[in-house]
Amino acid sequence: MSAFYYLCSPMSGTTIIELLIKDDFSKDDLVKLLRAEGEEKIMLFQKSADVKEQYIGKKVWLRGLIEFSNICGKDCMYCGIRKSNTKLERYNLTDDEILTAARFAYENRYASIALQSGELESASFTNRIENLLYKIKEISNGELGITLSVGEQEPEVYKKWFDAGAHRYLLRIETTNPDLYRKIHPDNKKHNFQRRYDCLKNLQDIGYQAGTGVMIGLPFQTTEDLANDLLFMRDFDIDMVGMGPYIEHVDTPLIKYADKLLPLKERFELTLKMIALLRIMMKDINMVASTAQQTIDPEGREKSVEIGANIIMPNITPGKYRDDYSLYANKPGSDDDSVSNLEARLALIDTEIVYGKWGDTKHYEKRRKAEAIVYRR
Ligand code: SAM
Ligand code: SF4
Repeated sequence: MSAFYYLCSPMSGTTIIELLIKDDFSKDDLVKLLRAEGEEKIMLFQKSADVKEQYIGKKVWLRGLIEFSNICGKDCMYCGIRKSNTKLERYNLTDDEILTAARFAYENRYASIALQSGELESASFTNRIENLLYKIKEISNGELGITLSVGEQEPEVYKKWFDAGAHRYLLRIETTNPDLYRKIHPDNKKHNFQRRYDCLKNLQDIGYQAGTGVMIGLPFQTTEDLANDLLFMRDFDIDMVGMGPYIEHVDTPLIKYADKLLPLKERFELTLKMIALLRIMMKDINMVASTAQQTIDPEGREKSVEIGANIIMPNITPGKYRDDYSLYANKPGSDDDSVSNLEARLALIDTEIVYGKWGDTKHYEKRRKAEAIVYRR
C-alpha cells in the first residue's frame, strides 16, 4: 500500500489530505499545496506519482537536445546568453554538425530531437531552419520527431516550419504575471508579454503540440504567481510543459537580486511541487525533467521523473560548444548524458526509457480530434 493511502487514513485528517482527494484545484488550494511540507509534501508527491503511473506508466521518452547556437537578439535579464553579455564565445553549429547530431539521435532510437537556440528573427534564419527540417526528415526516413524552441516568430514563420516537419514547439511564457514579466525583461517592444502569449496561441492554432513553462523562484515571484501559472497552463490546455528553477547567472542584470532569492534547495523543492500539482491537474500531458533541476541536484531529473515528469532531453550538442550555452551558473556541460548512464539511473527508480517512439500525448490526440486540426504528416 502506498504512503498516500496510509497517510489518508481517518486518523490523520488534514486540509491537505482533503485537497489531495480532488482532481482539480482552485488558486487557494494551489497556494496551500505549494506550501505543503513534511508528511503533507510526501503525500502530494505520492499522489502525483500514482497519477503518473496510472496515466503514463513508469516510463520516459527522449528528445535529443541540440543547442545549435547561443547567438541571441534579445536581452532577457536572467539569461546568460543574452545579447549584451560579451563574456562568452558565440557559436553557431554548421548544418553538417546539426545533421550529424540528428543522425546520432535517429540511429540510437531516441525517436525525437529538440532544436534550441537564441532568438533571431530574419529571413535567413527562417530559411535555414526550414531547410534543416526537410533534411532531418530526409535522413531519418521521416521518422524523427522534431521539437523547435527558437523563440518568438511571426505566424507565417511558424506555419512554414510546421509544414517542413516540426510538430512540437516549446515557448516558455516564463511567468504569467505581466508585472513580473516586465521586471525581468527590458521595457521595449522586443520583450513584450502580450506578444509572447500571442505566439503561444498561434503555435497552438497552427497545430503544433504547444509547450510552455515558467521559471520557479524568480526574484519578486510569489506563491500566488506560481498558482496562477498552473491555472494558466490548465486553461490554455497546453500539451507539453518544461518548468524549471530560476538559477542566477553572474553576468546578467538580475544578479543584483541574488540575496532576495530562495535558497537553491527550496527552488528545487518548489519545482517538484509544481510538477506534482500539474501532473494531478493535467494527467496526460508531456512534462520535461529539466536540466536546471539536475544542476541543483545531480539526481534532480530522476526525482522529477519519479513524481510526474515523463520526458528527458539528453544533451547531444557537440561537446566543445556546451560550456558556451551557459544560461545559468553551473549548467552541466561535459557530464555523461549517454542513454546507458541514464538507463542505469532510471532503473534505480524502476523507470524505463521508451525507445523508437515519439511519445505523443493522449492529451494532444484528444485536443486534435476536438479541434479537427488537419495534421500534415
Ligand atoms: N531563446 C528561446 C526562448 O527564449 O524561448 C529558447 C532558448 S532559451 C535559452 C530557453 C529557456 O531557458 C528560456 O525559456 C528560459 O526559461 C530558460 N532560462 C534562461 N535563463 C535561465 C536562468 N537563468 N535560469 C533558468 N532558466 C533559464
Ligand atoms: Fe535569448 Fe531565449 Fe536567453 Fe531570452 S531566454 S536572452 S530569448 S536565449
